[in-house]
Amino acid sequence: MPVAKLQKRETLNKSTESLSFIMEEDLGFIGGQYIILDSKIPMNEEKNFKRAYTIASSDEEQRSFRIVYKRLGEGLVTNQFLDNLKIDQAVSFSGPWGKFLKNEDFAKEGKTLMVATDTGIASAMSFLSSKKVKNRLKDVDLKWFVPSKDYFISHDEISEKFSEIVGRLEIKTIPEYGKGRGEEFYGSLESFMEQTSYDSYFLCGDGEVVRRGKDLLLKRGHDETQIGTKVYFNK
Ligand SMILES: Cc1cc2nc3c(=O)[nH]c(=O)nc-3n(C[C@H](O)[C@H](O)[C@H](O)COP(=O)(O)OP(=O)(O)OC[C@H]3O[C@@H](n4cnc5c(N)ncnc54)[C@H](O)[C@@H]3O)c2cc1C
Repeated sequence: MPVAKLQKRETLNKSTESLSFIMEEDLGFIGGQYIILDSKIPMNEEKNFKRAYTIASSDEEQRSFRIVYKRLGEGLVTNQFLDNLKIDQAVSFSGPWGKFLKNEDFAKEGKTLMVATDTGIASAMSFLSSKKVKNRLKDVDLKWFVPSKDYFISHDEISEKFSEIVGRLEIKTIPEYGKGRGEEFYGSLESFMEQTSYDSYFLCGDGEVVRRGKDLLLKRGHDETQIGTKVYFNK
C-alpha cells in the first residue's frame, strides 16, 4: 500500500479542511482520480473503515498531493480520523482509482458539461486542473449544485481558478442531502439535463443525480465512453 505523510493542514471554513501530503515516490495519478484512505478504525476483525478522497491538486505535481474534505455531522472517518491527523503522520491508501479518466479519448475536444453536486466539485476541480484538459478542452460549462456558500470549497476559489477554462460557471443553491431532496428536486435536474447538448459529460456527487443523468443520456443514444461519472454518496 502506498504511504504519504501529512505536510500541511489548512482550514478553509468551519467544516472544510485541505490536507497536503508528500510521498517518496510518484503517485502516478491523472487529474480527477481518487485514493482510498485506510482510517485504521476497525470495522470488524478483518477490515478497517476506508473512504475515497479525490486528489484535488494538479497532476503536474506527482510527489505531493492535496485532498479537501468536508467534516460531516456524524461522519466517522472525517471526524475521527482526518480531523485528528497530525503533521508528519503517515497515512496508507490504495489507488489512484478512476477508470474512465485513463481513457485517452475522454473528454472529446468539443463541448463538455460538468455537473457536480455537493463535495463532488472536488472531482470537477481536479479534472479541470489536469494536463490533459488544459491542453485540450476549450469549451467547458460547469454547473455546481450546492446547499450553501460555506458548504465546501469557496465559490470564489472555483470561479478564480477556472475562469480561463470554464466558459459558463453556474452555482445553484439546493436542499441539503437528507433535507428535502425529493422527486421535485431530482426531477428538475433531470429536466435540465434533458435540454443539454454536449459532446462529453462529467457527472459527480449525489448518486441519484449521477444515475438519472447518465440514464437519460444513454436513452438519448449518447456515446457511453463520453459520460464520466463519480458517485460520492447516495449509492
Ligand atoms: C470517488 C469518491 C471521491 C470522493 N471524494 C471526496 C472528496 O474529495 N472530499 C470529500 O469531502 N468527500 C469525498 N468523498 C466522500 C468520502 O469518501 C466520504 O464518504 C465522506 O468523507 C464521509 O465520510 P465519513 O466517514 O466522515 O462519513 P460517514 O460515517 O460515512 O457518513 C456519511 C453520511 O452522510 C451522508 N452524506 C451527506 N452529504 C454527504 C457528502 N457530501 N459526502 C458524503 N456523504 C454525505 C452519507 O449518505 C452518509 O449517510 C468521495 C467519495 C467517493 C466515492
